[in-house]
Amino acid sequence: MSVTGKEKKTCTAILLAGGQGKRMGTDTQKQYLLIRGYPVLYYSLRTFQQSEIIDDVILVTGSGQTDYVRREFVERYGFSKVSRIVEGGRERYDSVWEGLKAAQDAGIADDSYIFIHDSARPFLTEEILERAYEDVERNRACVVGVPSKDTVKIVDRENFAAETPDRKYVWVIQTPQVFEASLIIEAYGKMMSRETVCATDDAMAVENELHIPVHMTMGSYENIKITTPEDLDIAQIFAQRCFPDLQE
Ligand code: C5P
Repeated sequence: MSVTGKEKKTCTAILLAGGQGKRMGTDTQKQYLLIRGYPVLYYSLRTFQQSEIIDDVILVTGSGQTDYVRREFVERYGFSKVSRIVEGGRERYDSVWEGLKAAQDAGIADDSYIFIHDSARPFLTEEILERAYEDVERNRACVVGVPSKDTVKIVDRENFAAETPDRKYVWVIQTPQVFEASLIIEAYGKMMSRETVCATDDAMAVENELHIPVHMTMGSYENIKITTPEDLDIAQIFAQRCFPDLQE
C-alpha cells in the first residue's frame, strides 16, 4: 500500500501500558479501566490492528503483567499484529527503552518507522496515523500535538509569572511520537547511557542527544490522555464520537 505515492515503509508501534496511573486514585491501573465497556488499552490496540499504516505492535506492560495482557487482550480480542510483549521499567522512558530494545532484537530495519504511543490515549485514529506517517517521511522525526487553546505561563519557583510565550507558538504534545528507527534508537541509546536521565517525551531524546529538529503533526483535541477521574467522564463522549461503530 502507498500513502504518499512512494513505497510504504514498515511501521512498528511501541504501545506503552507499563504505568501505575497513581493520579487516577483507583486500585485498577488506568489502562485497564473501562470506557463504554472496553478497557482503555483496548482502544489503541484496535486502532493499530485495523490500521493500514501499522504493521506490528510491541506491547510494553507493567512488571509481571505480560501473561495477563497476552491472555486478556491479545488472545481474547485476536490482536494478531502484536509481535512482542515485554515488561517496561520504572519511568516512561525506561519502558520506551525496553520497547526499542525489543524492536532491535526483532531486527527492525534502520529506515522503518517507530510510532511510540501511550495506551492512556485511547482515541488515536487512523487519520492521525496517516498524518504522522506523511510527516515522518518528510522530516524523520515528528510528534503529534495540538495548538494550545489556553495562554501558557512559565512561572518561577514561587509561582510568579515569569514569561508568557506567544500562544501561536505553543503546542500541547500528545502521542504518537514517530521517528526513523535508527534515529530514535541512537538517541535513546545515548540518553540512557547518561547518569541522570530526564525526558518526559521521546522528542526530547532526539532534540537533546542528536539536535535533530522534530516537526509537529496535527493531532486532535479528542486524543486526550486519561490521567485523572474527570477524564473518564469526557472519555465516554469521545469514545462514542470517535468510534461510533463500537457497540457498548
Ligand atoms: O503516567 P503517564 O500518564 O504520563 O504515562 C503515559 C504512558 O506511559 C501511559 O500509557 C503509561 O502506561 C506508560 N508508562 C509506561 N511505563 C512507565 C510509566 C508510564 O509504560 N514506567
